[in-house]
Amino acid sequence: MADLIQLLPDAIANQIAAGEVIQRPASAVKELMENAIDAGATEVKLVIKDAGKALIQVIDNGCGMSETDARMAFERHATSKIRSAQDLFAIRTMGFRGEALASIAAIAQVEIKTRRHSDELGTRLVIDGSEIKAQEPCQCPQGTTISIKNLFFNVPARRNFLKSNPVEMRHINDEFQRIAIANSDIFFSLHHNGSEIFHLPGGKLRQRLIGVFGSHSNKKLVPVAEETEVLRLNGYVGKPEFAKKTRGEQYFFVNNRFIKSHYLNHALVSAYEDLLPTGTYPLYVIFIDIDPKRIDINVHPTKQEIKFEDERLVYNYLRVSVRHALGQYNVMPSLDFEQ
Ligand code: ADP
Ligand code: MG
Repeated sequence: MADLIQLLPDAIANQIAAGEVIQRPASAVKELMENAIDAGATEVKLVIKDAGKALIQVIDNGCGMSETDARMAFERHATSKIRSAQDLFAIRTMGFRGEALASIAAIAQVEIKTRRHSDELGTRLVIDGSEIKAQEPCQCPQGTTISIKNLFFNVPARRNFLKSNPVEMRHINDEFQRIAIANSDIFFSLHHNGSEIFHLPGGKLRQRLIGVFGSHSNKKLVPVAEETEVLRLNGYVGKPEFAKKTRGEQYFFVNNRFIKSHYLNHALVSAYEDLLPTGTYPLYVIFIDIDPKRIDINVHPTKQEIKFEDERLVYNYLRVSVRHALGQYNVMPSLDFEQ
Protein backbone atom coordinates (compact mmCIF):
# COMPACT_ATOMS: atom_id res chain seq x y z
CA MET A 1 0.00 0.00 0.00
CA ALA A 2 1.23 3.49 -0.84
CA ASP A 3 1.83 6.06 1.88
CA LEU A 4 -0.92 8.61 2.16
CA ILE A 5 0.43 11.70 3.84
CA GLN A 6 1.51 14.73 1.83
CA LEU A 7 2.50 18.25 2.74
CA LEU A 8 -0.21 20.76 1.84
CA PRO A 9 0.63 23.19 -0.97
CA ASP A 10 1.55 26.65 0.39
CA ALA A 11 -1.56 28.31 -1.00
CA ILE A 12 -3.79 25.94 0.98
CA ALA A 13 -1.69 26.12 4.16
CA ASN A 14 -1.91 29.92 3.94
CA GLN A 15 -5.64 29.81 3.45
CA ILE A 16 -6.00 27.69 6.59
CA ALA A 17 -3.77 30.01 8.60
CA ALA A 18 -5.80 32.96 7.31
CA GLY A 19 -8.85 31.50 9.02
CA GLU A 20 -7.18 32.18 12.37
CA VAL A 21 -5.52 35.51 11.71
CA ILE A 22 -8.04 37.22 9.43
CA GLN A 23 -11.58 36.84 10.68
CA ARG A 24 -13.06 39.96 9.13
CA PRO A 25 -11.95 43.15 7.36
CA ALA A 26 -11.00 44.72 10.71
CA SER A 27 -8.39 41.97 11.29
CA ALA A 28 -6.67 42.90 8.03
CA VAL A 29 -6.80 46.58 9.03
CA LYS A 30 -5.07 45.74 12.32
CA GLU A 31 -2.30 43.71 10.66
CA LEU A 32 -1.60 46.28 7.94
CA MET A 33 -1.58 49.25 10.32
CA GLU A 34 0.73 47.40 12.70
CA ASN A 35 3.11 46.71 9.83
CA ALA A 36 3.14 50.42 9.00
CA ILE A 37 4.02 51.24 12.60
CA ASP A 38 6.73 48.58 12.75
CA ALA A 39 8.13 50.15 9.55
CA GLY A 40 8.68 53.39 11.47
CA ALA A 41 6.00 55.40 9.66
CA THR A 42 5.15 58.89 10.95
CA GLU A 43 2.04 59.09 8.73
CA VAL A 44 -0.47 56.30 8.22
CA LYS A 45 -3.60 56.69 6.11
CA LEU A 46 -6.37 54.11 6.06
CA VAL A 47 -8.76 54.11 3.11
CA ILE A 48 -11.84 51.89 3.24
CA LYS A 49 -14.58 51.14 0.73
CA ASP A 50 -17.75 49.27 1.62
CA ALA A 51 -16.67 48.57 5.18
CA GLY A 52 -13.54 46.83 3.88
CA LYS A 53 -15.44 44.37 1.70
CA ALA A 54 -14.38 46.19 -1.49
CA LEU A 55 -11.13 47.86 -0.44
CA ILE A 56 -8.75 48.17 2.50
CA GLN A 57 -5.79 50.39 1.72
CA VAL A 58 -3.00 51.44 4.07
CA ILE A 59 -0.57 54.13 2.95
CA ASP A 60 2.54 54.65 5.08
CA ASN A 61 5.74 56.66 4.83
CA GLY A 62 7.80 54.02 6.63
CA CYS A 63 11.04 52.30 5.62
CA GLY A 64 9.65 50.53 2.53
CA MET A 65 11.04 47.27 1.15
CA SER A 66 13.57 46.11 -1.43
CA GLU A 67 12.26 44.23 -4.45
CA THR A 68 13.22 40.86 -2.97
CA ASP A 69 11.81 41.68 0.46
CA ALA A 70 8.53 42.79 -1.11
CA ARG A 71 8.18 39.32 -2.61
CA MET A 72 9.45 37.52 0.50
CA ALA A 73 7.00 39.40 2.72
CA PHE A 74 4.18 37.28 1.31
CA GLU A 75 5.81 33.95 2.17
CA ARG A 76 4.53 32.25 5.28
CA HIS A 77 6.72 32.57 8.41
CA ALA A 78 8.71 35.26 6.62
CA THR A 79 9.57 38.14 8.94
CA SER A 80 12.28 40.74 9.44
CA LYS A 81 11.32 41.13 13.10
CA ILE A 82 12.73 38.08 14.84
CA ARG A 83 15.58 35.77 13.93
CA SER A 84 15.88 33.31 16.78
CA ALA A 85 13.82 31.65 19.50
CA GLN A 86 15.64 33.93 21.93
CA ASP A 87 14.06 36.97 20.26
CA LEU A 88 10.60 35.65 21.14
CA PHE A 89 11.24 36.68 24.73
CA ALA A 90 12.13 40.27 23.93
CA ILE A 91 9.54 41.38 21.41
CA ARG A 92 9.25 45.12 20.90
CA THR A 93 7.51 45.11 17.51
CA MET A 94 3.79 44.60 16.90
CA GLY A 95 4.39 41.78 14.42
CA PHE A 96 6.74 38.78 14.64
CA ARG A 97 4.78 35.76 13.39
CA GLY A 98 5.34 36.48 9.70
CA GLU A 99 1.85 35.27 8.89
CA ALA A 100 -0.30 38.28 8.16
CA LEU A 101 0.67 39.12 4.59
CA ALA A 102 0.82 35.46 3.52
CA SER A 103 -2.63 34.93 5.04
CA ILE A 104 -4.17 38.02 3.48
CA ALA A 105 -2.68 37.25 0.06
CA ALA A 106 -4.22 33.76 0.19
CA ILE A 107 -7.76 35.10 0.51
CA ALA A 108 -7.75 38.43 -1.35
CA GLN A 109 -6.39 40.37 -4.29
CA VAL A 110 -3.41 42.38 -3.14
CA GLU A 111 -1.42 45.18 -4.70
CA ILE A 112 1.65 46.59 -3.01
CA LYS A 113 3.82 49.54 -4.00
CA THR A 114 6.88 50.08 -1.90
CA ARG A 115 10.10 52.08 -2.04
CA ARG A 116 13.02 52.52 0.33
CA HIS A 117 14.53 55.95 0.85
CA SER A 118 17.79 54.87 -0.81
CA ASP A 119 16.14 53.44 -3.96
CA GLU A 120 15.25 55.54 -6.96
CA LEU A 121 12.55 53.19 -8.15
CA GLY A 122 10.10 51.22 -6.07
CA THR A 123 8.47 47.85 -6.63
CA ARG A 124 4.89 47.06 -7.61
CA LEU A 125 3.57 43.60 -6.90
CA VAL A 126 0.15 42.12 -7.61
CA ILE A 127 -0.85 38.91 -5.84
CA ASP A 128 -4.12 37.15 -6.31
CA GLY A 129 -4.96 34.21 -4.06
CA SER A 130 -1.25 33.53 -3.27
CA GLU A 131 -0.26 33.74 -6.95
CA ILE A 132 2.07 36.50 -8.12
CA LYS A 133 0.39 38.13 -11.14
CA ALA A 134 2.73 41.05 -11.72
CA GLN A 135 6.04 42.34 -10.45
CA GLU A 136 7.64 45.46 -11.89
CA PRO A 137 9.61 48.56 -10.95
CA CYS A 138 7.42 51.60 -10.31
CA GLN A 139 7.57 55.24 -9.33
CA CYS A 140 6.18 55.77 -5.86
CA PRO A 141 6.81 57.82 -2.74
CA GLN A 142 9.03 56.42 0.05
CA GLY A 143 7.09 53.94 2.13
CA THR A 144 4.48 51.34 1.37
CA THR A 145 0.97 51.41 -0.04
CA ILE A 146 -0.88 48.15 0.23
CA SER A 147 -4.35 47.60 -1.19
CA ILE A 148 -6.52 44.62 -0.35
CA LYS A 149 -9.45 44.04 -2.67
CA ASN A 150 -12.28 41.54 -2.42
CA LEU A 151 -11.32 39.99 0.89
CA PHE A 152 -12.49 36.35 1.16
CA PHE A 153 -13.26 36.25 -2.60
CA ASN A 154 -12.24 32.58 -2.61
CA VAL A 155 -13.69 31.69 0.83
CA PRO A 156 -17.45 31.97 0.19
CA ALA A 157 -18.39 30.81 3.70
CA ARG A 158 -16.41 33.65 5.31
CA ARG A 159 -17.62 36.19 2.79
CA ASN A 160 -21.24 35.23 3.41
CA PHE A 161 -20.86 35.42 7.17
CA LEU A 162 -19.63 39.00 7.10
CA LYS A 163 -22.02 41.31 8.91
CA SER A 164 -23.71 44.43 7.55
CA ASN A 165 -21.51 47.36 6.55
CA PRO A 166 -22.25 49.37 9.72
CA VAL A 167 -21.20 46.42 11.92
CA GLU A 168 -18.02 45.67 9.95
CA MET A 169 -17.19 49.38 9.90
CA ARG A 170 -17.59 49.56 13.67
CA HIS A 171 -15.00 46.79 14.04
CA ILE A 172 -12.65 48.67 11.70
CA ASN A 173 -13.19 51.84 13.70
CA ASP A 174 -12.35 49.98 16.91
CA GLU A 175 -9.04 48.69 15.52
CA PHE A 176 -8.19 52.07 14.05
CA GLN A 177 -8.88 53.85 17.35
CA ARG A 178 -6.85 51.37 19.40
CA ILE A 179 -3.83 51.83 17.15
CA ALA A 180 -4.28 55.60 16.95
CA ILE A 181 -4.43 55.86 20.76
CA ALA A 182 -1.38 53.65 21.22
CA ASN A 183 0.70 55.80 18.84
CA SER A 184 -0.24 59.40 19.56
CA ASP A 185 2.94 60.76 17.98
CA ILE A 186 1.96 59.39 14.55
CA PHE A 187 -0.42 61.12 12.12
CA PHE A 188 -3.43 58.93 11.26
CA SER A 189 -6.40 59.44 9.01
CA LEU A 190 -9.36 57.24 8.16
CA HIS A 191 -11.45 57.60 5.01
CA HIS A 192 -14.59 55.61 4.30
CA ASN A 193 -16.29 55.72 0.88
CA GLY A 194 -14.59 59.01 0.09
CA SER A 195 -15.22 60.94 3.31
CA GLU A 196 -12.68 61.57 6.02
CA ILE A 197 -13.86 60.17 9.37
CA PHE A 198 -10.71 60.84 11.40
CA HIS A 199 -7.85 63.29 10.91
CA LEU A 200 -5.44 62.97 13.83
CA PRO A 201 -2.21 65.00 13.77
CA GLY A 202 0.63 63.55 15.86
CA GLY A 203 0.94 64.94 19.39
CA LYS A 204 0.56 64.12 23.07
CA LEU A 205 -1.71 61.39 24.38
CA ARG A 206 -4.26 63.86 25.79
CA GLN A 207 -4.57 65.50 22.35
CA ARG A 208 -5.03 62.13 20.73
CA LEU A 209 -7.79 61.15 23.18
CA ILE A 210 -9.59 64.41 22.48
CA GLY A 211 -9.22 63.72 18.75
CA VAL A 212 -10.67 60.23 19.12
CA PHE A 213 -13.32 60.71 21.84
CA GLY A 214 -14.25 64.35 21.11
CA SER A 215 -13.36 67.66 22.76
CA HIS A 216 -15.84 67.11 25.62
CA SER A 217 -13.53 64.37 26.93
CA ASN A 218 -10.83 66.89 27.96
CA LYS A 219 -12.52 67.71 31.26
CA LYS A 220 -13.04 64.05 32.12
CA LEU A 221 -9.42 62.93 32.13
CA VAL A 222 -7.39 62.27 35.26
CA PRO A 223 -3.74 61.42 34.58
CA VAL A 224 -2.21 58.23 35.97
CA ALA A 225 1.58 57.90 36.19
CA GLU A 226 3.45 55.56 38.51
CA GLU A 227 6.45 53.37 38.19
CA THR A 228 8.37 50.68 40.01
CA GLU A 229 11.47 48.77 39.03
CA VAL A 230 9.32 46.14 37.35
CA LEU A 231 6.64 48.11 35.57
CA ARG A 232 5.50 51.53 34.52
CA LEU A 233 1.90 52.70 34.34
CA ASN A 234 0.67 55.78 32.56
CA GLY A 235 -2.42 57.11 30.87
CA TYR A 236 -5.76 58.50 31.98
CA VAL A 237 -8.83 57.41 33.89
CA GLY A 238 -12.20 59.15 33.66
CA LYS A 239 -13.73 61.09 36.53
CA PRO A 240 -16.46 58.95 38.04
CA GLU A 241 -19.25 61.43 37.37
CA PHE A 242 -18.66 61.00 33.63
CA ALA A 243 -18.91 57.20 33.68
CA LYS A 244 -21.16 55.91 30.91
CA LYS A 245 -23.89 53.30 30.76
CA THR A 246 -21.91 51.45 28.09
CA ARG A 247 -18.39 50.11 28.05
CA GLY A 248 -16.39 51.32 25.10
CA GLU A 249 -13.90 53.94 26.13
CA GLN A 250 -11.83 51.35 27.98
CA TYR A 251 -8.34 50.50 26.84
CA PHE A 252 -5.40 48.58 28.24
CA PHE A 253 -2.14 48.52 26.35
CA VAL A 254 0.77 46.34 27.40
CA ASN A 255 4.01 47.46 25.78
CA ASN A 256 1.85 49.47 23.38
CA ARG A 257 -0.25 46.48 22.35
CA PHE A 258 -4.02 46.65 22.96
CA ILE A 259 -5.15 43.77 25.15
CA LYS A 260 -8.38 42.54 26.68
CA SER A 261 -8.32 41.54 30.32
CA HIS A 262 -11.26 41.02 32.66
CA TYR A 263 -8.79 40.67 35.48
CA LEU A 264 -7.16 44.07 34.97
CA ASN A 265 -10.55 45.65 34.31
CA HIS A 266 -11.60 44.38 37.73
CA ALA A 267 -8.53 45.89 39.35
CA LEU A 268 -9.19 49.23 37.74
CA VAL A 269 -12.90 49.43 38.46
CA SER A 270 -12.39 48.32 42.06
CA ALA A 271 -10.14 51.36 42.57
CA TYR A 272 -13.23 53.56 42.22
CA GLU A 273 -14.82 51.73 45.15
CA ASP A 274 -18.39 53.01 45.45
CA LEU A 275 -17.85 56.21 43.50
CA LEU A 276 -19.31 54.74 40.33
CA PRO A 277 -23.09 54.76 40.03
CA THR A 278 -24.23 51.14 39.51
CA GLY A 279 -24.33 50.04 35.91
CA THR A 280 -21.84 52.65 34.75
CA TYR A 281 -18.39 52.17 33.30
CA PRO A 282 -15.50 54.59 33.66
CA LEU A 283 -13.33 55.73 30.77
CA TYR A 284 -9.76 54.47 30.97
CA VAL A 285 -6.71 54.41 28.76
CA ILE A 286 -3.89 52.71 30.61
CA PHE A 287 -0.46 51.86 29.26
CA ILE A 288 1.48 49.20 31.12
CA ASP A 289 5.15 48.96 30.24
CA ILE A 290 6.88 45.86 31.45
CA ASP A 291 10.00 43.89 30.58
CA PRO A 292 8.93 41.68 27.63
CA LYS A 293 10.57 38.74 29.41
CA ARG A 294 7.85 38.93 32.04
CA ILE A 295 4.96 38.48 29.62
CA ASP A 296 3.89 36.01 26.96
CA ILE A 297 2.07 37.62 24.04
CA ASN A 298 2.22 34.52 21.90
CA VAL A 299 -0.90 33.03 23.48
CA HIS A 300 -3.20 33.70 20.52
CA PRO A 301 -2.63 34.58 16.82
CA THR A 302 -4.38 37.95 17.21
CA LYS A 303 -2.22 38.66 20.29
CA GLN A 304 -5.10 40.23 22.21
CA GLU A 305 -4.58 38.04 25.22
CA ILE A 306 -1.33 37.97 27.08
CA LYS A 307 0.00 36.23 30.14
CA PHE A 308 1.87 38.03 32.90
CA GLU A 309 4.51 36.24 34.90
CA ASP A 310 3.12 37.87 38.05
CA GLU A 311 -0.50 38.78 37.49
CA ARG A 312 -1.22 39.63 41.14
CA LEU A 313 1.51 42.22 41.24
CA VAL A 314 0.13 43.99 38.17
CA TYR A 315 -3.40 43.82 39.60
CA ASN A 316 -2.44 45.39 42.91
CA TYR A 317 -0.20 48.01 41.44
CA LEU A 318 -2.85 49.08 38.95
CA ARG A 319 -5.50 49.34 41.66
CA VAL A 320 -3.31 51.37 44.00
CA SER A 321 -2.10 53.67 41.21
CA VAL A 322 -5.61 54.47 40.01
CA ARG A 323 -6.80 55.18 43.56
CA HIS A 324 -3.83 57.42 44.03
CA ALA A 325 -4.59 59.30 40.80
CA LEU A 326 -8.25 59.76 41.68
CA GLY A 327 -7.25 60.93 45.16
CA GLN A 328 -4.68 63.44 43.93
CA TYR A 329 -7.17 65.12 41.67
CA ASN A 330 -9.58 65.47 44.54
CA VAL A 331 -12.03 63.13 43.00
CA MET A 332 -12.02 61.11 46.20
CA PRO A 333 -12.28 63.03 49.45
CA SER A 334 -10.20 60.75 51.65
CA LEU A 335 -8.01 57.82 50.85
CA ASP A 336 -5.87 55.23 52.46
CA PHE A 337 -3.16 53.69 50.36
CA GLU A 338 -2.93 50.26 51.86
CA GLN A 339 -1.45 47.68 49.49
P1 ADP B 1 5.30 40.21 10.63
O1 ADP B 1 4.74 41.59 10.77
O2 ADP B 1 4.84 39.30 11.71
O3 ADP B 1 6.79 40.18 10.44
P2 ADP B 1 3.85 40.20 8.09
O4 ADP B 1 3.34 39.10 7.24
O5 ADP B 1 2.85 41.17 8.63
O6 ADP B 1 4.67 39.55 9.29
O7 ADP B 1 4.95 41.02 7.28
C1 ADP B 1 6.09 40.32 6.78
C2 ADP B 1 7.29 41.26 6.62
O8 ADP B 1 7.04 42.20 5.56
C3 ADP B 1 7.58 42.12 7.83
O9 ADP B 1 8.41 41.43 8.77
C4 ADP B 1 8.29 43.33 7.19
O10 ADP B 1 9.66 43.07 7.01
C5 ADP B 1 7.65 43.45 5.84
N1 ADP B 1 6.58 44.48 5.80
C6 ADP B 1 5.25 44.27 5.89
N2 ADP B 1 4.56 45.42 5.82
C7 ADP B 1 5.48 46.42 5.68
C8 ADP B 1 5.41 47.85 5.55
N3 ADP B 1 4.23 48.50 5.57
N4 ADP B 1 6.58 48.53 5.42
C9 ADP B 1 7.78 47.89 5.40
N5 ADP B 1 7.90 46.54 5.51
C10 ADP B 1 6.78 45.80 5.65
MG1 MG C 1 2.74 42.08 10.57
